[in-house]
Amino acid sequence: MRLHQTIIPPKAVPDSPLARRFLTDALAWQSSHDPAALEALLRSPCSGIPHDVAAAYATFARRGGSLLEAIEHERLALPADEREAVLRFAAKLRAIERLPSEDAAAIGEAIASAFLGTVRQPPSADTPVDPAPIKLGAGEKREAGGGVRSRVAHFSASSLNAFAECERKWYYRYACGAIDDPGSSAATYGTAIHLALEDFHQEFARPSPGEETVMRARIVDDVRWAFERNRADFETPVEFELQVRRAQRTAQRYVDWLVERARTAPFEVIGRELPVRLEVNGHDLMGFVDRLDRDLRSGAVAVIDYKTGAIATSAAEYREKVRSFRDFQLPFYYWACSASGDKVAWLALVPLKDATLDVRPVVMEVVAGAAPVARRDAPSGSISIDELERAKRRMIALCDRIASGTLAYFAATRDPQACTYCAYALACTARPPATGSQFDR
Ligand code: SF4
Repeated sequence: MRLHQTIIPPKAVPDSPLARRFLTDALAWQSSHDPAALEALLRSPCSGIPHDVAAAYATFARRGGSLLEAIEHERLALPADEREAVLRFAAKLRAIERLPSEDAAAIGEAIASAFLGTVRQPPSADTPVDPAPIKLGAGEKREAGGGVRSRVAHFSASSLNAFAECERKWYYRYACGAIDDPGSSAATYGTAIHLALEDFHQEFARPSPGEETVMRARIVDDVRWAFERNRADFETPVEFELQVRRAQRTAQRYVDWLVERARTAPFEVIGRELPVRLEVNGHDLMGFVDRLDRDLRSGAVAVIDYKTGAIATSAAEYREKVRSFRDFQLPFYYWACSASGDKVAWLALVPLKDATLDVRPVVMEVVAGAAPVARRDAPSGSISIDELERAKRRMIALCDRIASGTLAYFAATRDPQACTYCAYALACTARPPATGSQFDR
């Protein structure tokens, strides 16, 4: 028989639905250790924990592991008052957990006494004051500081980009893995459209203007199929339908570009979602190239990267990002494909974000000597092998630094824009003020 089904709520429980709900969940958890009951306790106003902190810990616990242990090990960096609130919550539950389960009435009284004096909503005049708040023990002795290294043995261009953008973000994602990005419809859109184009080019490895009608019909099916496979990751059916329509319009514009390109420079798709690897200075860099094309006239290879988020809008802008070591994606692909024996002549970013715009790739020709300077807004330009070589040297230096295990401090970015969609903003106490706040000072 389940304990919470037999107990009569103690007199100490304030007569509010909130408090009775909390008591029921607490009894359920005490008798069964049901994680859902524990999460309900955490999120209740009776827990004394701010809602956003509760949500962060709930998300953390759902991704594996014990919620109480996560709190006790202080997996989230919190301001002092919030830290104390979560630790107090865990300590109280631990004390209740230790009570003998036969004495249901005593358990009910203990829960009411420990928690229900701290109900913040709705306030009640007869809410009893917690008569015996649980005292926290002496703090653990601080461990000696030490270096940190990545949890994964290999590197990717994304991880190096993250480190270059904000070392602290890299630390949260690759060293702690504390909170995973829960994903978004934008991210799922990207996954689905990559999948659709991978399927599409399996059938159309050599797009030709003569097959335009067939390609247009086929890509409609490929998009629908790819999105159906990811349907569960969209929050609502409406969101799903909107994103499918957006992808269908983008896909037709993509075919426009394929037909035009096949007419002017026939090519063959020789790789789709191609795994690539580069070994440098004892480090493993791994990734996937979205598409690899071979020019049918010259035999030269083009590395194609699909982009469904914001990207550089001109070749000069992307080249500047490479030169200032803010983006390693295409340099990494260049060196990985070259190491496999491909003669890479072009690097291209294909924008697939905006369904209202034509697909107008940013293309850079790889040149041996000094690369000429392109017009600032021109989609095509060039980049020199020297510049790519410098990017490679910087990648190696970053890998050396991260793999050394001596990094003990991870600086936060100074660019507030980097924080806008950062999944770790809640835990990060070092983020720079938003641009608006700077003007307010
Ligand atoms: S919130 Fe900003 S400073 Fe903090 S980890 Fe994220 S990007 Fe870095």
